[in-house]
Amino acid sequence: MSETTPQTATDNGAVFLDRDGTIIREVDYLSRLEEIEILPGAAEAILKLNRRQIPVILITNQSGVARGKISEEFVNRSHLLLNRLLAQKGAHIDDFFYCPHHPDVGRAPYRKTCNCRKPAPGLLFQASSRYHLKLEKSFVIGDKLIDVALAHKVKARGILVKTGYGDQESKLIETSGINPEMICRDLNEAIDWVLNIRKERF
Ligand SMILES: [Mg+2]
Ligand SMILES: [Zn+2]
Repeated sequence: MSETTPQTATDNGAVFLDRDGTIIREVDYLSRLEEIEILPGAAEAILKLNRRQIPVILITNQSGVARGKISEEFVNRSHLLLNRLLAQKGAHIDDFFYCPHHPDVGRAPYRKTCNCRKPAPGLLFQASSRYHLKLEKSFVIGDKLIDVALAHKVKARGILVKTGYGDQESKLIETSGINPEMICRDLNEAIDWVLNIRKERF
């Protein structure tokens, strides 16, 4: 492959990003729009993917809905705002998928054992069928080992970032047996690693 071949998304892989503790500050059940704060360098990192036309898809567990703390409308509004904030740096997330459920807390219809609460892979399947993505060519980046476990369920690569709960979670790797392909300081370092791997592949 020639040196000048642009690094575009020709392999149909995507980068799936966790939200809380990965892109925005972890606040333990975000319930007010004012609490949304993009972590340092995160917008610039996402822009690197946008420039290469690599799909950037957010996947988040929002059991606050099942718990009655927030509405689905709030989740949607928070994602619109997140994209408005990212736009100030020229970046954007291509689509947002969330799980509003919890297996044993809250009320119907949200109290249920679903197939979309991470590490269950339902959100990845929704995204891959909507955008014809190849999950085994994709990456999942998050601050919890469930994000890494999710990646491995679909043969994607899982990267743990040490922002949010990531530092705590990194201490559980040995006992959990969930081994990230990479552990990074933050989203920016994780995305640089992804871009390097993709370059090697082209
Ligand atoms: Mg998180
Ligand atoms: Zn769900």
